[in-house]
Amino acid sequence: MKQILLIEDEAGISQMITVQLKMFGFNVHEATDAKTALSTNKIESIDAIILDWMLPDEEGPNLIPKLRQRTDAPILMLTARSEMVDKLTGFEAGADDYLTKPFDMMELIARIKALIRRSGDSNEDEKITTIKYKGLTLNLETRRVEVDEEEIELTPTEFTILEIMIKKPGVVFSRNQLIELVMGYEYEGYGRTLDSHIARLRSKLEIDVKSPEYIITVFGIGYKLGK
Ligand code: CA
Repeated sequence: MKQILLIEDEAGISQMITVQLKMFGFNVHEATDAKTALSTNKIESIDAIILDWMLPDEEGPNLIPKLRQRTDAPILMLTARSEMVDKLTGFEAGADDYLTKPFDMMELIARIKALIRRSGDSNEDEKITTIKYKGLTLNLETRRVEVDEEEIELTPTEFTILEIMIKKPGVVFSRNQLIELVMGYEYEGYGRTLDSHIARLRSKLEIDVKSPEYIITVFGIGYKLGK
């Protein structure tokens, strides 16, 4: 299991990121300030670090050199929009990547995966790259999807929806739950957009969209994968 150190003082954001990372199979160590972050147990086995710019006891960029003394793990910085002008400072301080708040949660997951992949030497104890369900095959590395051995093209959002659902066949996801998992936030009025993503996904996966085999509507609640 990949180990992520999350250094973020805003409880709401921290919790949201943690839930998502866990959902995607990461183990998360949370720290709310620089001091706690630096005293993380087994910090040398951390695979990637998510670092908020503004912490109560230190600015993120100043913390980077101190983290670097302890670990080579790639660092992704979170910045508020107003702090974007300071990006250069952060890169000079040695951050590997940036994300500006508010961000799409899938973007964060994708960046973290990319950083870990790039950093290379990480222990390959977790090799689940393809997931199968009936005629569906998802490759999480290459993000390719096959239906009955025929490759199909999905948009990133469609892929993400399918990835979430295929990991838990038969489990009912409410529309709000799916929206939150896909977008990272609760979006008022996103329900119809979700439904249209689902409709497009179905048109690509299903032989008969009127009698779907994969994405099943659970009336009044949401969707599930399989019957
Ligand atoms: Ca902060």
